[in-house]
Amino acid sequence: MYIGHFAVAYLLIGMFPEVPPLVPLIGVGFPDILWPFFVFLGLEKVEINKESPLQKHIKFVSYPYSHSLLISFLISCIAGIILGVFMSPLAGVIFIFASVSHWFLDIVVHLHDLPVTGFKGGRKVGFGLWKYPLIAFVFEYVFYALVTILVMPPAYIPGLLALGAFGHLLNINSFFGFTKGNPAKSDKAYAVFALIGFIGFSLVANYILAG
Ligand SMILES: [Zn+2]
Repeated sequence: MYIGHFAVAYLLIGMFPEVPPLVPLIGVGFPDILWPFFVFLGLEKVEINKESPLQKHIKFVSYPYSHSLLISFLISCIAGIILGVFMSPLAGVIFIFASVSHWFLDIVVHLHDLPVTGFKGGRKVGFGLWKYPLIAFVFEYVFYALVTILVMPPAYIPGLLALGAFGHLLNINSFFGFTKGNPAKSDKAYAVFALIGFIGFSLVANYILAG
């Protein structure tokens, strides 16, 4: 899931205006921001399908640190404590909450590959909405748009809806497979796309909210 995660950031921004928006914005994508680093270090493993760009054809072989409920929560606590010390305790708590929300949204779309504890042989979950691309595609944008409209001040809504539409369209190939092959040429390139996608979206949303 991509843009859907940012709906939770907007909810937190609406509820806690005293926390800088970048805290929840980066927080909701934190697992996918950590993930490329673990992939590059060889600690986590993904296998893209060279013949297909579809999300459901990407094998998340192992990602216990970035994408398990337990271990990723513990890692987000480290980041949260650092934020708590240098920014404010509330900012730290909001960051941890935002980061944990990532897993709960990811289980909706992922294919039974999300670890619960992250320990070897542990349980994996995922409802697999990615198997139904049209529903997954519509659901993610409708969820994003509804939350944006419900929680954001009116002045920001058009900009954030446009940003969401732009991000979602950038990602459309992974739902419907318009290209025959996979534009990402390697597992690591795919991970870097995710990193750029989450950081870029967070910065633009932050810019809109600062305006
Ligand atoms: Zn993720």
